[in-house]
Amino acid sequence: MMWVFIFFFGLAVGSFLNVCIYRIPRADVSIHSPRRSFCPECSNPINVYDNIPVLSYLLLRGKCRQCRARISVLYPLVELATAGLFLGMYYHFGLTLEFLLALAFISLLLPIAVIDAQHYIIPNVIIVTGLVLGLVIVCGIAYQRSEVWYLLTRIIGAVAGGATLWLVAVIGSAILRKKAMGGGDIKLMALIGFFLGAWPELAMVIGFSALSGAVVGTVLIVSGVKSRQSPIPYGPFLAGAAVLVLLWGDRLWRAYLQFVGWN
Ligand SMILES: [Zn+2]
Repeated sequence: MMWVFIFFFGLAVGSFLNVCIYRIPRADVSIHSPRRSFCPECSNPINVYDNIPVLSYLLLRGKCRQCRARISVLYPLVELATAGLFLGMYYHFGLTLEFLLALAFISLLLPIAVIDAQHYIIPNVIIVTGLVLGLVIVCGIAYQRSEVWYLLTRIIGAVAGGATLWLVAVIGSAILRKKAMGGGDIKLMALIGFFLGAWPELAMVIGFSALSGAVVGTVLIVSGVKSRQSPIPYGPFLAGAAVLVLLWGDRLWRAYLQFVGWN
């Protein structure tokens, strides 16, 4: 029963994340106004019964009821990804404050990844909201465990994350003689450091994101989708690596230590 509830809760949150993904990067709309969702093509408000996560997309066959314009498949995908990741977090953490922290983290990373991929920006409002939300939940966990140290490790993680990526950006720019990384990536890494802690989590996030970014970047350039000069947003890779480390970080780290023979 809990699984079903979390799945539908995830779909609902995913639906809200879609609103954030569309509205936050656009100056002419905000999260609150207009109140009703609307079709980006014909601007007609969307009926409540046409706004049910995933189901409405399937029933409408991916087209607006009024103008028949195609609805991006990204909408149901974001909803399904949110629901799926929420279930994964429940499986991993159970009903704990750590589960709540993971849900908040997912709900920040998903819009960051999609907005960065589409617009090459990581909005400050998501970073700030995330840090405030994360701080509240982390304080709750520290209180529950009676461990002030837990809160401290998160603050160290945020500072270490921001500083590390800032250093990578400075060195990268010097070597490549062009802007290697945006300020948004540095802020995102601080956010990731706050939610995951510093060591070894941050090192793993940097390793996985650099590796996957290099592979995907090479594929995109070789296949001609992107030119060598066109920027490839780093946010989606950082977000993906962060989810990986959140779920399997401890297991992967132990496997790594065994592999290099330290254990
Ligand atoms: Zn329409």
